[in-house]
Amino acid sequence: MSETDVDSTENASDFIRDVIREDVDAGRHATIVTRFPPEPNGYLHIGHAKSMCLNFGVASDFGGRCHLRFDDTNPVKEELEYIDSIQEDVRWLGFDWGEHLYYASDNFEQLCAWAEHLITEGKAYVDDLSAEEMREYRGTLTEPGKPSPFRDRTAEENLDLFRRMSSGEFEDGARVLRAKIDMASGNINLRDPVLYRILNADHPRTGDAWHIYPTYDFAHGQSDSIEGVTHSLCTLEFADHRPLYDWLIENLPVDATPRQYEFSRLNLTYTVLSKRLLMQLVTEGHVKGWDDPRMPTLSGLRRRGIPAAAIRDFAGLIGVTKSNSTVDMALLDHCTRDLLNKSAPRRMGVLRPLKVVIENFPEGKVEMIEAQNHPQDPDAGTRQVPFTRELYVEQEDFMEEPPRKFFRLSPGREVRLRYAYFVTCQEIIKDAAGKVTELRCTYDPETKGGNSPDGRKVKATLHWVSATEGVPAEVRLYDHLFKEEEPGANGNFLDDLNPESLTALNAYLEPVLADAAAGDTVQFERQGYFCADPDTSIDAPVFNRTVALRDSWAKAKKK
Ligand code: ATP
Ligand code: MG
Repeated sequence: MSETDVDSTENASDFIRDVIREDVDAGRHATIVTRFPPEPNGYLHIGHAKSMCLNFGVASDFGGRCHLRFDDTNPVKEELEYIDSIQEDVRWLGFDWGEHLYYASDNFEQLCAWAEHLITEGKAYVDDLSAEEMREYRGTLTEPGKPSPFRDRTAEENLDLFRRMSSGEFEDGARVLRAKIDMASGNINLRDPVLYRILNADHPRTGDAWHIYPTYDFAHGQSDSIEGVTHSLCTLEFADHRPLYDWLIENLPVDATPRQYEFSRLNLTYTVLSKRLLMQLVTEGHVKGWDDPRMPTLSGLRRRGIPAAAIRDFAGLIGVTKSNSTVDMALLDHCTRDLLNKSAPRRMGVLRPLKVVIENFPEGKVEMIEAQNHPQDPDAGTRQVPFTRELYVEQEDFMEEPPRKFFRLSPGREVRLRYAYFVTCQEIIKDAAGKVTELRCTYDPETKGGNSPDGRKVKATLHWVSATEGVPAEVRLYDHLFKEEEPGANGNFLDDLNPESLTALNAYLEPVLADAAAGDTVQFERQGYFCADPDTSIDAPVFNRTVALRDSWAKAKKK
């Protein structure tokens, strides 16, 4: 049994689950509540899948629930398109938030009231410093900050200014509301962090109702509290924000006290996992869209044919820790192969066709050949594949002058055509440039089904497709989107794009594949796993190669 045969979501154990188990044992919470909080400013990627598997997984392990919350506090970058795609992707990955769909923007009234509460308590003030001045006053990691000249405004003045900010009296960026904490703190996040900024922009959900918007720090923990989240799980870069998270919860009249825990982000080789960079790939046309099968987005992986369960298995295998590391993309391929090997029906497709004419097979005759749908699973049944005088085989399955270990077709050599007959290459036809364009072969009618009656052995079995009955199709092969393991490590990440990440081939497939529905996954024997693409811009089926058959990861592991 391979490792991924174990259902990786069961019996998961990590430091976060340890914390929660302790809380549960100590009776601290009636129900465990987590949340997955995407900002709707792009499509979800496989890094988000790690976070979802953790948040939804923990909730399910402890009989609790996980909310989907849109962290929609920055109207300038957020769009309804992303809100829709995110919900589709979360569902596709297999998670269900039930009735618990929330938006940080649902809390704008309450957050505003809490801001006024801090002002009244003398714990927040309106600052008129420009962004650049604020940066100067903030100090550095080694030097304390200094107080803004506006820090000691009275509560009345602050309240008046804050309300005028809110009613749209001022320009973008003219003023901010800051918490009054400690300008000398060793943690820069506590040096009077900004709670509200002026943004005279329409919001996808609240329209033109607001002229001020809360920062992530002010909205996040308070939204956690409003929703009754018990464990707020985020990535390591927020560890330094935790003291602020706790300060706000302590200093506001909130009902519930969520706790924040941090885990490491997922980094993957040969790709980037940042919505900003992924957005750039899309808007500058380096890929065909967010769902381009080369993208590490969930919509891209789905279109590529990677099953949601493979992504969940992958998340289970990488686990959850506090140390940053980069995971080999080959591990995801491994999880994908492991699942598709069991589920994908076998078919024949010739990706780079070379014509074969069987000279002793009658012209016009179509003989139906029985082929197994899954050689390791007899229950998968059989199908009929047409065999005709003209066929295609793979160009790479023929060599005019074969080296010693090449056992496939060559002049005078006999091989088996899968499920059909033994054939022998009699003659080669070349074009003016000397390129082999056709093989003239003969078949042995006594070898029907690919079995020899006299115990005669052949050393190769080739897949094939009827040239007259098969369907022409476009088959797209993918390589890594970037040619460097860590794109951008030595400069602009765009310089590391792999110019050969997409190869489109004019292939021939066995006829049943003409009816494949977008998303159907099959194995083309000897070639890999493929998924029917929804592209209707060309008048032929399109298949994406999800992953090749060879498992370089398992091989590397054995070594
Ligand atoms: P990006 O850098 O891609 O914009 P983000 O963290 O800004 O990512 P959000 O929409 O805010 O994106 O993320 C939603 C949740 O997913 C957050 O809790 C975040 O920590 C988590 N997340 C995002 N990227 C990763 C990643 N690479 N690995 C694990 N979790 C991630
Ligand atoms: Mg973010």
